[in-house]
Formats: sequence, structure tokens, C-alpha cells
Amino acid sequence: MTMRDVLSSFREINSKYHMFHAVTGDADPGDAAFLFSAKDNLTSADMETCSGSRILEGYRPAFDAESIARMRAAGGKLIGKCNMDEFGFGTFSVNSGLEIPRNPYDPERSCGGSSGGSACAAAVFEDHVSLGVSTGGSICCPASFCGIYGIAPTYGRVSRYGLIDYGNSLDKIGVLSARAGDMRKYIHMISGRDPKDPTSCAQPELKDTGRKLKSAAVPKDGTEGLSADVKDAFDRSLEKLKSMGIDVETVEMPSLKYAMPAYYVLATSEASTNLARYVGMRYGRQRGDLSLRFDDYFSSFRSEYFGEEAKRRILLGTYTRMAGFRDRYYAKALRVRQSVIADYKSVFSRFDAVLTPTMPFTAPRFGEISGMSALDAYKADYLTVPANLAGTPHLSVPCGYDRNGMPIGMQFVADHWNEEVLFDAAESWEKGFEMVKPEVKV
Ligand code: GLN
Repeated sequence: MTMRDVLSSFREINSKYHMFHAVTGDADPGDAAFLFSAKDNLTSADMETCSGSRILEGYRPAFDAESIARMRAAGGKLIGKCNMDEFGFGTFSVNSGLEIPRNPYDPERSCGGSSGGSACAAAVFEDHVSLGVSTGGSICCPASFCGIYGIAPTYGRVSRYGLIDYGNSLDKIGVLSARAGDMRKYIHMISGRDPKDPTSCAQPELKDTGRKLKSAAVPKDGTEGLSADVKDAFDRSLEKLKSMGIDVETVEMPSLKYAMPAYYVLATSEASTNLARYVGMRYGRQRGDLSLRFDDYFSSFRSEYFGEEAKRRILLGTYTRMAGFRDRYYAKALRVRQSVIADYKSVFSRFDAVLTPTMPFTAPRFGEISGMSALDAYKADYLTVPANLAGTPHLSVPCGYDRNGMPIGMQFVADHWNEEVLFDAAESWEKGFEMVKPEVKV
């Protein structure tokens, strides 16, 4: 499929799968070197940016996010901004004020979240790469549900300039693609220190050193609570890795079981302060009627345009930071974070990677998701949040299909700045894995 074919057909495909919130009007690739899309929490000067929220409708940023700017500078053409959970708050992309992306393997099921639209686009369009953002697994989860590859690099590797913040100490911009080699290529393209972002790090350069994955540790807690099909596929994948000469051993990582609650305390604490800026004055939607007192104006505006999950997180995150509670929740969660980092460091002194399934189950149907409580949804993230808490790079590869043909993913986590070992793991895995492409019907 040529770039021109994609540009002439993608709007029709989008009307069925809803991967894009905003799309380019161009049908001509011009001299573009490649086409790409980006999660809608990355600002783009030529397209509306809403971060999945009604509160931002109409927001036209004045500048490109640094990651988008670097893709364009390398010849990339941005074709669409991808649907997502509002501000990244979710695991299934259903917590959206806008449209909900549909899984390319079964449109009655979720794409995962919160970078669901990005995963859908990367799975559906040939030669397509999409930028995603992970705060607690939002690249690996949708990559796993949509049967593709996805990497969230080391925290600080890619500039957050132009990213609409969720949790500033957690957010990482990364890449989703149906091809393993694209992760190496595009992470190289967008990474590197950026003086415009104070959290981007002076960093060891990404080099193709040829470093190989030789050993992987499977944490005991990482193999509990899995659906039967995920467990089977993971067990078979372990056997395959062993046959590839990789030393695989089970280890104890006792802090992992506390990572999910600690993540939700820290992420909501940071999110609740980030959302304070959306009051109907500076960005996006505004109301003409300014007769209300300013605090009544802000409250009525926020009540009307924030979704239910955003409101829940404002309440949760404000509570965990309140005087009287912050030692019990916020400070304790910070200590758990230190233990998670210490556990990873101790494993990385002996192994190249930590290995688990990416998600404990495959993409659920929308009907099943509406029956889940908020806590059920949070619990689904227990395998993906630890790496975000630790700031370590993590990557999901497709490793099988369940009895309904839905994809299953496996997640590798490496030490800080060691993306190289993850690229090798994914590229070696891809050589022996038979990917079943989704049949896209319009
Ligand atoms: N599911 C997690 C959450 O709701 C992670 C989301 C993300 O990485 N943006 O916070």
C-alpha cells in the first residue's frame, strides 16, 4: 500500500474504527518520507488537540510537541491525532469525552488504553508508526490488545515539551508499530535532551552497540492472576525464549504487589494538580456568559466538561495530598516507589530484562468493561505500572492469540538507558513469531 493509498482510504476506515480524533485534510503525501500519527495529548500546530477531553474542544495549540516536531523534521507527515482516555486516565480508552477506538480484531472490543487510537492506527495501516504516551502502561497495554509492538523508553529519554501532562514524574513518550524494527528507528529519531523540557535528561546516547538479550527474570507475582489463555501463551513463549538460548529464571520481586496502589496514589496526586489549569479561560472551550462569580464559573464549567474518571482522580489525588493524609498515602507511595526501583536494580545486576505477560487478559468487550468497577480497571494494570514507577524502559511484543483470536502480549523491562537490549529482544522475537494481521472490514 502506498502512502497515497493510505491517505485516500484512511478517513473511511476511521469512520468504522474511530482511531483518530482529528485528521489531516491532505490526500497528497507530497515528499513525505513516512506517515505517522500521534496520541492526542501531544500538541500539534495544525490540528486540534483535546487529550480526549470535552474541556479542550476547540484547542488549537500554537506549537508542535518536540516529539512531533522531530518526526516532521525527519520527513514524517502527521495524518491524525489519536483517540484516547481523557488525559490518559484509563486502560481501555472508554473514559473518553470524544470517540472510543475499536479493536481491529473485533470492533466490539477495546483497543486498550490509554493510547488506544495509536495502537489501532499502527495495527491497521501498513507501514504506520504512531506516537503514544505511557504514564502507567498506556503504550504496552494497547500494543498488547492490538497485537503489535510498543515501547515506552527510559523516563527523560524523549522530551515532554508539548505533552499535556498527566503525571509529570511518570509520563514517557514512545512508539507503537506493527514492526519491531520501527521502535529502534523512531525512538532514535525522537530521543535526546531538550532544553525546553526540564525533565528531559542528559543521557547516554542511544547507540546500536549490538548488545543482545541473554537472560530474563520472571517475577513470581507476575504470573499470578492471568487468564488461562494468557498463561498458556506466556508459558509457551518462555519455552521458545529458552530454545533461542536465553536464560530464563523465576525471581522474587516483593515490592511489585504494592506497585499498583502506589501508582494510583502518585499518578492521581500529580494529575489533580495538572488539571487545575482547565477552567474554561485559557485553553479550548469557553463560555460567553461571564456573569458568574469566578469560582462559580470555574466550578460549573469543570462540572460540565470533565468526565467522571477525571473528577474521580481530582478527588482521589487531592485527598492523598491533604494535610493529615499525605504521610499516610503520598509519602508512603513514594517509599514504595523506592522499593520498586531497588527490586529492579537488584534483578538487573543479574539479568538483562524482567519478563511478564503485558496484560493479565486479552481485550475485553465493551459490555464487560461497563460492568467493571473503577478498582477492577485499576487492578488490570498490575503488570504495566511498576516499570513506569521505576522510570525504566519497557516494551510489549505480540506472543500469541487466545481462543477468540484476540492478541496476547509479553512485556520486557530493562534497566535505565538500556533500550538497546529491548530492541534486540523484540527484533529477535519477531523473526520467529507468526503475526496474524487483523482483517479490516469497512
Ligand atoms: N491505566 C493507567 C491509568 O489509568 C495508565 C494510564 C496511562 O499510562 N496513561 O492511570
